[in-house]
Amino acid sequence: MIIYHHSTDLKAFASSNPQDWLYAGFIPTMGALHEGHLSLIKACQKTCKITIASIFVNPTQFNDPKDFEKYPNTIEKDIELLTLAGCDILYLPSVEDIYPNGLHHLPKYDIGNLENLLEGKYRPGHFQGVCKVMDRLLNIVAPSHLFMGEKDFQQCMVVQKLIETKNLPIQLHTCPTLREKDGLAMSSRNVRIPENQRMKATAIYKTLTWISKNLEKKSPHELMDTATLQLLNHGFQSVDYITIATPNTLQPISTWAPGEPVVILIAAFLADVRLIDNLVK
Ligand code: AMP
Repeated sequence: MIIYHHSTDLKAFASSNPQDWLYAGFIPTMGALHEGHLSLIKACQKTCKITIASIFVNPTQFNDPKDFEKYPNTIEKDIELLTLAGCDILYLPSVEDIYPNGLHHLPKYDIGNLENLLEGKYRPGHFQGVCKVMDRLLNIVAPSHLFMGEKDFQQCMVVQKLIETKNLPIQLHTCPTLREKDGLAMSSRNVRIPENQRMKATAIYKTLTWISKNLEKKSPHELMDTATLQLLNHGFQSVDYITIATPNTLQPISTWAPGEPVVILIAAFLADVRLIDNLVK
């Protein structure tokens, strides 16, 4: 695996391999890699000639400075995992390489209502940061395929919107969420859950499946209220949201007709760790 620290070197490599770059797939990450990330590498290898991953803990997308400070860093293990997975290129930039003109006066992106809903509402500025880093990364890497996880459902919608707004020739592949055996969605933040609280974390996926199974029996409102209590009773500190929504708008539904596609999304805190998950029905 080739490791590039500078965008100029990566761009030079890309322009000296134009044929391969027609089938270049990109997996942006913030490191502390797990099987979920590696599943994106595998998905990319099935479609693309060249697989490029990036590791960059993007300061502009953290609305909570403590979350940024505590973000896990396991770079040596990450490099080993990517090498073993057969990743071709790792882009490992500095903050200066991504933001050469500093972190201020960066462009503002129009992502419509996605900015005010769910993650947008509870993490003000988060998606602006995601757009800033993705705009820059997609410009540097210039892939034809992009692989992202459905775990970050709304993030995939935001990036798709960015691709469309900028008219980029990039196909976004949204890949399924990988889970631990007990259902907990894999996440870099899971290592911050204290051992004695880890069992409680399974309540998120149990709640998602409980809502999904009961859609025919109770109203979305009743389900959301009961589910919130369930999470709190299982030891969750607080619940940012539980919502049952239309997948292409993320607007909450007030009634559900059998067969109607919905996505159930949850964000909640356990032991000061903010966990998100979702289930598409
Ligand atoms: P992150 O390093 O958390 O920014 O994630 C990098 C990419 O991996 C994003 O596209 C995530 O949606 C994806 N990802 C994170 N967790 C999982 C998971 N459990 N299963 C599949 N993809 C994931």
